Parts: sequence; structure tokens; C-alpha cells
Amino acid sequence: MTGFVITPPTAASLAISGSDQVFPLRRVFCVGRNYAAHAREMGADPDREPPFFFTKPADAVVPASGTLPYPPATRELHHEVELVVALKEGGADIAPERALDLVWGYAVGLDLTRRDLQAIAKKDGRPWDMAKGFDASAPCGPLQPLSCTDHPREGRIWLEVNGELKQEGNLNEMIWPVADVISHLSRFVTLAPGDLIFTGTPSGVGALNPGDLVRGGVDGVDTFELIVGGR
Ligand code: MN
Repeated sequence: MTGFVITPPTAASLAISGSDQVFPLRRVFCVGRNYAAHAREMGADPDREPPFFFTKPADAVVPASGTLPYPPATRELHHEVELVVALKEGGADIAPERALDLVWGYAVGLDLTRRDLQAIAKKDGRPWDMAKGFDASAPCGPLQPLSCTDHPREGRIWLEVNGELKQEGNLNEMIWPVADVISHLSRFVTLAPGDLIFTGTPSGVGALNPGDLVRGGVDGVDTFELIVGGR
């Protein structure tokens, strides 16, 4: 008889809209600079880059509601509102024409970023993990099953802080649409059921401060509302 030497961690999961069941999470992948205007605001040329990816731990996903803990080790916590894709199937070298068959549903999430740490990492050629993959760095609303929604190909994506519009774009402005994101990513890793993909953010990223009321959404998918907690 063999067994775990410590109690195994609970599997990370994401709520499902209108259901008591939850979606089990395996990995969280994020696409960098997938909207041209955001690529430009980060100092990059959107015409010259293939998509690139980074990851967050699965248990960095927390509900996009209530009070968000303000993370340690930063004075510059940035919001990035994103369409999130949940996969029910995996595979490698997926053709774009087949990629959407892997999708279970969609959600709206935040790719929270310790921008000050990311700037240092970029300058020194170091990894982004501590800038992107910290605890509770991936607040996400409940998944909308494909049985209840269609693949969102266009629609306003937006975020406001204390009632002031900060980020606004349209899904149809993605440099790499969802099918291409899945296809590209599957050349680097064998995708698996339970994987989430954050598909990039429109322009207008900026800092969140304790006490801020944050609202965001994607038309036709979902909206969320949360409060930023104290330092
Ligand atoms: Mn992002």
C-alpha cells in the first residue's frame, strides 16, 4: 500500500454559471499583447510578433467577486481584463479549423500584473513569474458553458475603476483570434482538459489601489464586480 506523505492539495476549480458543479482546472496559460493598441502602449510593434505565452498556477484563479487581496511586493498592481477560454479536450498541433472543438466555455477574467516587478524583469531579462503568477493573480468570473452561449467572435470588452472607463476594445480586434491562440499554444505544449487560456487585454491598463471598485465584462459573455482590498 502506497500513499501520499502529506494530504494532497485540493484540485483547483472554477464556478460554472447556473450550476452547482465546478470546472476542474489544470493549467492557466496567458497570451501576451494580443490587441494592437495594448502592444503599442507596452512599447511593442504589433505587426512583428507571433503570439507568446506565459503561465499562472491553477490555484491563482479566484472568483472575480467580493474583495480581492492586494498582493505583497508591489506598489503597481495593474488590471488587464481578458476573455478566458476553458478547454474540455486537449491535443498537440491542433489545426485552427479544429481548435474551437476543444472549447468547453468562456468567462471574463483579470490577468493581474505586478507591473513594477515586470518592468524590472524585462529590463534584466529575467522571468515574469513573480510579476504574473502570484497568489490570486487570476480572478475569473463563472464559466459560461457553450451550451448557453456561442463562440464570442466580436463584442465589447471593457473595464472601469470607480465608475471611470479605463479599458475598452472589441474581441474582433484580437491579433490572434481564439482558434489561432489555441492552435499556436498547442505547438508548444500538449493541451489538456481543464486548461484555461487568458486571451490578452485591450489598451488602457493601469494601477488598482486599495478600495477601488472594479467592474468589467465582455458583451455576450459576462460581467464582474469586485473591490480591491487593503495593502
Ligand atoms: Mn494579459
